[in-house]
Order: sequence, then structure tokens, then C-alpha cells
Amino acid sequence: MSIVLSVDNLYKSYSTVRALNGVSFEVPENSVFGILGPNGSGKTTLLGIIMDVLRPNNGGFRWFGKPGSSEQRKKIGTLLETPNFYSYLSATDNLKITQAISGRGNKQDIDNVLRKVNLYDRRWAPFKSYSLGMKQRLAIAAALLGNPKVLVLDEPTNGLDPVGIAEIRELIRELRDQGHTIIMASHLLDEVERVCTHAAILKNGQLITTGHVDEIMKDDDLVEMSAANLQALEAVLQKTGGKVLLDEKTNTVQVVFPQGTAKLDDINRLCFEQGVVLTHLILKKKKLEARFFELTNN
Ligand code: ADP
Repeated sequence: MSIVLSVDNLYKSYSTVRALNGVSFEVPENSVFGILGPNGSGKTTLLGIIMDVLRPNNGGFRWFGKPGSSEQRKKIGTLLETPNFYSYLSATDNLKITQAISGRGNKQDIDNVLRKVNLYDRRWAPFKSYSLGMKQRLAIAAALLGNPKVLVLDEPTNGLDPVGIAEIRELIRELRDQGHTIIMASHLLDEVERVCTHAAILKNGQLITTGHVDEIMKDDDLVEMSAANLQALEAVLQKTGGKVLLDEKTNTVQVVFPQGTAKLDDINRLCFEQGVVLTHLILKKKKLEARFFELTNN
């Protein structure tokens, strides 16, 4: 599998604020790669650096295995800021203007990108008659001029109504099916989980984890237990290899195991053999939301 973008140990500070703190990851070809993190975690700064709008203090990045150059840049379309479209002009006429300014693509490209974003049938209608989702689809069409292999989008569903959000998420999946690689920032766990194949999770400018979405976001097994002597129970559970948490409020001990690996009868037997009789034993699924909260708010 070839790598579209590799980010290597990026640092960026704005006077006293450290926005990126040694971030490294790789974006595989034909992925939908989510950069996920709460507001202020460094997503926009990261996109600004890989698009050459901002300079890092340290570290670097490579597109298609090569340091940045205008030749590489032609393969990347971006929507970091929403383009200004003229409300009385049609989609086709607006894209003619965008094309004249950016110099990307040729005349036939306009119809092609309008087909890709499913606006071809409405191409002569004025921009002001479009729904929010259609307006955003036109913005993505503008980024697709010149048929770039990679699209970089910052929070592509922000400010849209539910119908628009669904349209854009579907479009992103379609663009991937057509061979594009999409890199998108999002603060929504749910969005990244639904739309992205891969992700990098940022918190305070630091990379928390990166990889395939199925790998980094799967639900963990959470086993909840109780016994007369909680401290003794906790000590025994340390031997299971899971992450042990003592909850004094509910008088329970919780152990987290990777998905599908918790074996309740083994745990029960181990406790009994070590002289601890369980009064409560239950397997719960640790919700993704909880894991995201843990990943980003600790
Ligand atoms: P995100 O896109 O995840 O919301 P940003 O990259 O916008 O995060 O911001 C990361 C951190 O850098 C935040 O603490 C933000 O306040 C700070 N920051 C961003 N841009 C600037 C700037 N131009 N000047 C000073 N601080 C900035």
C-alpha cells in the first residue's frame, strides 16, 4: 500500500501556545483519513502546515514520498476556506470563475466535477437557490477541479443541516470509491467513525493514537466486579493483564480488556483460587464515546 502523506515529528508554536507537539503519522492511498480532536487540539494548524500555508518550527512532511513542490501540489485539492460564490450565478458560471482564478483543470473538468458531486442536473440554477448541502457540494466541486488525487477538507460538515451533513458524508465515501484519498479534520467522533477508514487523534497538539479506524476505535471489554474486600480484589485483578480501575463510589473494580478477550469464568476462578469471593461479575461494552473522552480529556 503506498503512502500519500507522511508527517514527521511536527512542532508548531504561536508565541507561548504550543499547537503541535511532535506529531507523526502516515496517510495510506485511497483512505478517508480523519484528523480527530476537540477544538484547539491543533487540527487546523496541522492542515495549514501540510498545505504550505503555515511553517512548522520543526519536523517536516512529504507528499507522495517527496518534499513539497508545485508538481506535488497539483495532485492536492483543498477546501480550507469556503470559496466565495456569486449568488446570482449558476454552478457552472461560478466554477468558470474559480477555474480562471486558480488555473486548475480545463473546460471539460467543470462538467466532470459537477457530475462527481451530483450537481450536474442543477448546474444552471443560481447558487442562491441551492440548499446548504448543495452549496458545500459546489465548494467540494471547486476543490476537485484539475482532478487532484487527494482532497484536504477542514470540518466539511460544519454549519450544515442534517440533510446537508448526510449528503456530504455520502459524497466523501463516493469520492473514495472513485479513487481519491480524502484527508479531513473533524471534532466529531461519530463522523470519523462513520466516514473515515483511518484516523489520527490529537489532544493538545499531541498525537494520542493513529491507525485503521476499526483498530483504534473498537469497543473494549469492560468487566465490572465487586467483593467484600475491594483492595484484595484489586490486587488479584492486577494479575489478569487488563487495566484495573477501582471505583470507590460504586464499590466496584473495573478491568478493561481488548475487544473479545475478557474471559469471565477465568477471572472468577482466579479470584476464588486467590481467596476472593465475587459478589458481582458482569461484562459491559466500553462505549466508544467513553474511550474518546478518555483519549482526549485525560
Ligand atoms: P483546532 O483546529 O483543533 O481547533 P487549532 O490548530 O486551530 O486547533 O489551534 C491549536 C491551538 O493553537 C489552540 O490553542 C489555538 O488557540 C492556538 N492558535 C491557533 N491559531 C493561532 C494563532 N494564529 N495565534 C495564536 N494561537 C493560535
